Amino acid sequence: MDLILFGPPGAGKGTQAARLIDLLEIPQISTGDMMRAARKSGTELGKKFDSYMSDGKLVPDEMVIALMEERLTQPDAAKGAIFDGFPRTQNQAEALDVLLEKLGRKISKLVVLEVPVKNIVERVVGRRVDPASGQTYHIRYNPPPSGLEVIQRSDDTEDVVHQRYEGYKAKTEPALPYYEARGLVARVDGVGSLDEVFERIKNALGV
Ligand code: ADP
Ligand code: ADP
Repeated sequence: MDLILFGPPGAGKGTQAARLIDLLEIPQISTGDMMRAARKSGTELGKKFDSYMSDGKLVPDEMVIALMEERLTQPDAAKGAIFDGFPRTQNQAEALDVLLEKLGRKISKLVVLEVPVKNIVERVVGRRVDPASGQTYHIRYNPPPSGLEVIQRSDDTEDVVHQRYEGYKAKTEPALPYYEARGLVARVDGVGSLDEVFERIKNALGV
């Protein structure tokens, strides 16, 4: 099964993807996580990613698509994947179809997590990450265990989140009709507890 988790920054895509991995037994592919790993390793490519990410701008399509092409050929993704934060433009959506077609696959469903902008800012600014495991927490809604050293992503500031949200509205949301035309879109209310949202996603997927 190839599934897309769609929605604005902070909608809960990563949080819900982590739960779906166990249920569906396919990996999560997060372009954001992959780019942060490249940035941390200090490679030239990582530096290029950083120049866009730190300002909350989208990384150019050709760079993201090249990254995805490489990732999709890895053996763990042979049976399907949960795409988290990709595609983020119509170009990326079309490129993903081409890549999947070469593998004899196609997208089964796209789940949009709908969360209003006022919740988005609070979620993003309160997000914390365990650098060792990559696990995501929230200072209020999903607090980290006491004693665990968590960090804040450098782009999780109020200024940058507004820029990222604008990017979502201007470039990412307009890709939805591409999937709507094929009847692949399930809209899910992303406001509620982490468990409630997970139940809604499972219902939408029929799993
Ligand atoms: P979010 O919490 O906003 O969903 P991500 O971890 O998915 O964050 O992405 C963080 C940043 O990485 C984005 O603001 C953007 O700069 C870059 N990025 C991640 N995925 C993509 C993509 N598919 N296309 C372009 N840029 C991306
Ligand atoms: P995305 O991957 O879409 O950017 P995350 O899954 O990282 O979003 O979630 C953003 C922040 O909001 C995290 O701090 C996470 O713990 C928190 N969060 C996720 N789902 C919910 C929810 N249903 N209610 C409140 N906070 C949530």
